Amino acid sequence: MSRKTILITGASRGIGRAAAIQAGGRGWSVAVNYVGNRDAAQDVVEAVKAAGGEAIAIQGDVAVEADVLGMFEEAARLGPLDGVVVNAGIVAPPQPLVDMSVERLRRMFDVNVLGAYLCAREAARRLVRSRGGKGGSIVLISSVAASLGSPGEYVDYAGSKGAVDTLTKGLAKELGAEGVRVNAVRPGLIDTDIHASGLQPDRAWRLGVNAPLGRPGTADEVAEAILWLLSDASSYASGTLLDVSGGR
Ligand code: NAP
Repeated sequence: MSRKTILITGASRGIGRAAAIQAGGRGWSVAVNYVGNRDAAQDVVEAVKAAGGEAIAIQGDVAVEADVLGMFEEAARLGPLDGVVVNAGIVAPPQPLVDMSVERLRRMFDVNVLGAYLCAREAARRLVRSRGGKGGSIVLISSVAASLGSPGEYVDYAGSKGAVDTLTKGLAKELGAEGVRVNAVRPGLIDTDIHASGLQPDRAWRLGVNAPLGRPGTADEVAEAILWLLSDASSYASGTLLDVSGGR
């Protein structure tokens, strides 16, 4: 399997971290983006190297255009990109829509929607053949929440992931002739820090036991799907929404 150079947003923890380390195991070079947790990002860099790859950590908020531009410029230190994982995302504490502030809604859509669009745009600018790129793979991390709606918990988050699904479909059609495949992975309940950040640290296990497979998933199980979509093994998959949700 060919060696690749990839950028993963939000790779300091959780699903992004697992994907970075699996990529390291294939000997790939990985730009590890994070927003605030420099020590965690540095740990991932060391783990990628220990697994056999190359890595650098890059700070940047995906909701800030200048940060996204800087992140892609710095990633070029590793070489021309073959793939980008648009993974960084946030949740918020459970609330019905009637109680949500405009500040909460704005931050949710800034990070999960604007951030995804900006990162996908920069990925496309570098990968498309008409601008000198070599083609490649863009993998967006959505959620099965896009279909379930997350009532009473976070309909804002679910809607933000609906936008990611739609971006995946449209961009796949826009970039197919440019040699760029665009797909999304839609995780279900995965045991990562994200639930504690939404003030529900036990959420993955509390709800995960009700999934058809009877448990939450692991970050590594989602990373397997991401790596497949980045790799040449998925060469005819584009515009796909791949649920990794234990049957939910
Ligand atoms: P996580 O454990 O909370 O990790 C989030 C990662 O994103 C961290 O590396 C964090 O960096 C980074 N990040 C957060 N805001 C950022 C920003 N504005 N700019 C750049 N990086 C930012 O999350 P996760 O569970 O791995 O989730 C990853 C993706 O999967 C998200 O898009 C999430 O919506 C999606 N997803 C997760 C689940 C689940 O159950 N876990 C289910 C469905 C979908 P720092 O370490 O610097 O804070």
